[in-house]
Amino acid sequence: MVLIMKAMVLRKPDSIENSPLELEDIPIKRPLSEDEVLLKLKTCGVCHTDLHIVEGELDPLPKLPIVPGHEIVAVVDELGENVKNFKKGDRVGVAWLYSTDQTCKYCVRGQENLCPHAKFTGFSENGGFAEFVTAPSDYIYLLPESFDDIKAAPLMCAGVIGYRSLRLSEVKPGETLGLFGFGASAHIVIQIANHWDCEVFVFTRSKEHQEHAKELDAAWVGTSKDIPPKKIDRAISFAPSGPLVLDILQQLDRGGTLAINAIYLSDIPPISWDLLWHERKIVSVANVTRQDAIEFLKIAQEIEIKTETVPYSLENANQALSDLKYSRFNGAAVLKIS
Ligand SMILES: [Zn+2]
Ligand SMILES: [Zn+2]
Repeated sequence: MVLIMKAMVLRKPDSIENSPLELEDIPIKRPLSEDEVLLKLKTCGVCHTDLHIVEGELDPLPKLPIVPGHEIVAVVDELGENVKNFKKGDRVGVAWLYSTDQTCKYCVRGQENLCPHAKFTGFSENGGFAEFVTAPSDYIYLLPESFDDIKAAPLMCAGVIGYRSLRLSEVKPGETLGLFGFGASAHIVIQIANHWDCEVFVFTRSKEHQEHAKELDAAWVGTSKDIPPKKIDRAISFAPSGPLVLDILQQLDRGGTLAINAIYLSDIPPISWDLLWHERKIVSVANVTRQDAIEFLKIAQEIEIKTETVPYSLENANQALSDLKYSRFNGAAVLKIS
């Protein structure tokens, strides 16, 4: 018997204004392979990467039609015959990293995020804008009970990749950190950075996001053209803007690091050597590892991270993505599925 579920399906990428995701009845993947689990969705967060996928900026897509969504909060519904690490009814999260080969040089040296054979949730395999999803049991995570189903969703990408960005920025306790853009990821990052006694400056054009940053104890807020009281030691950019990189380098102190958390970036204009001189560094943040997710979920629980969320129904995924595109809310959009 073929079991059917509701899903928001992308058949042809298009501008979000044309509502490219359509609600469809599609078969639930069966049978499960021996290391797979079938998960019943509770919620799924909405990420900028979903927007880039839906609008065709990550061309060519490895799979079409595709069900996007990689900030999954779900309950284990069925187990493949070899799955021992979870049981039916466990509440788990699924992140962007869906699977890797575990044999290439990157995987072996702890950089599975760079695996050339990596698969990604809601990109190379169907994701969480649906009632059910399957995932390899080695790539799912038990979720801290202190987060409800909605509040937990943004942890799975905004949180995990925000944490990786913090690590790659090499920020140390007490240093000055600049956050450029203040959406779902940055609003989690600032809470960790404050916990580490960093002084956090937030640069964003959106007045609402500036207010949100003040509420979360930013030491200074302004736009990327404003000059803060001092140079920043580390910077993280969350905006898909190449020209912004030059503005950030103007603010970055000697020996500083800029981590760019963007799967898609417009072209960076020519950079004069002066801006990089004195050992300034730029690093891209690409995907996440399982270790990132494990470490971050532990920190999220320990320091009681508060996620700001805006709920939408599954059918309203296009609206959620559109509101994300135009910064119409603070924090993260989350689809409530069951
Ligand atoms: Zn690999
Ligand atoms: Zn994401």
